[in-house]
Amino acid sequence: MDRLRRFPGRPIPTGSVAQRHLELQVLRRIGFYGFTERYGWKPGDPPFAIDWIRPMPNSLDIAVRPDALPEAIGALLPMLVPGSEPTGVRGLRPRLTPHGVELSRIGLPGMVCLRGVRLRAWQRALDISMKIWDDPDETLLLWRTHPDVMHPDEEDIARSCDAGYAPASEGCDDVAAAASIVLRRQMIFRGVTDIRVWTNPGSIQLEWYGGDDHAAVAGALLDPVFGMPGSVDAPCTCHDSGANRCWSVELDFVANPGGYVNLRRGGADWTDRLEQSSEKARQRRSAELRPAWAGLPAAPSNHNRQGLSMSV
Ligand SMILES: [Zn+2]
Repeated sequence: MDRLRRFPGRPIPTGSVAQRHLELQVLRRIGFYGFTERYGWKPGDPPFAIDWIRPMPNSLDIAVRPDALPEAIGALLPMLVPGSEPTGVRGLRPRLTPHGVELSRIGLPGMVCLRGVRLRAWQRALDISMKIWDDPDETLLLWRTHPDVMHPDEEDIARSCDAGYAPASEGCDDVAAAASIVLRRQMIFRGVTDIRVWTNPGSIQLEWYGGDDHAAVAGALLDPVFGMPGSVDAPCTCHDSGANRCWSVELDFVANPGGYVNLRRGGADWTDRLEQSSEKARQRRSAELRPAWAGLPAAPSNHNRQGLSMSV
């Protein structure tokens, strides 16, 4: 929040319609509760493991923490274990550029760039992510097996409910504008001890622990310059009944009449629990990263070689 106060005069560009839908898909995946927990989250880490962003109307640059890159790949890129539902953002494919790895959906506008990620970092992260998955030998990396067209299983779901692919997508993505607004202002949540996002029909559920209270968060999201027009519908009792008693406040953006953001402010008790479970992930990750970070050649694997031939 201090950062906001230091730069009060810089409005955040609004994403195009296609860009908002892509950002909704991205936020869903990196807001999943396991995302931050698995990479070895520590108190004070930035929200969603994002160091900084650069929002533009038709693109969003994201600087993901290097140690969270394996989870980012696992969360965002579509993969398939035959017989189960594909994971990741349907239709998303990577392209290596001098600036980073650009992620866009086949046949649709809009782009998210994992800024600063070079080929070597990508390969390391991919190799690490394969080691920590349940069925690495069974997992199809759809951007390798289907670089230009979607896998039939991927396409079936995309055509049934993803805006841009589905003939009628009302009801599935009515919170896209709100998702984009939140993702483009994730820095509001710097200082939280945990944050997670999921969607319900017509709403984004945004839950955080530690950090600012409802008034500060809503004030930033609705800030006349930095934020977006909207209103808070539910009464806030953060300071009436104790710091951890006020749980849920609804925020409506004018730009998103079809849905609202449920601001869920969690209590302090979760932090200890999260830190314990995260410690295990940190130790495992540390063992995985040690040889790579030390500059030793990573053990070659089929998946690593797959990454090598990624289109440039
Ligand atoms: Zn409150």
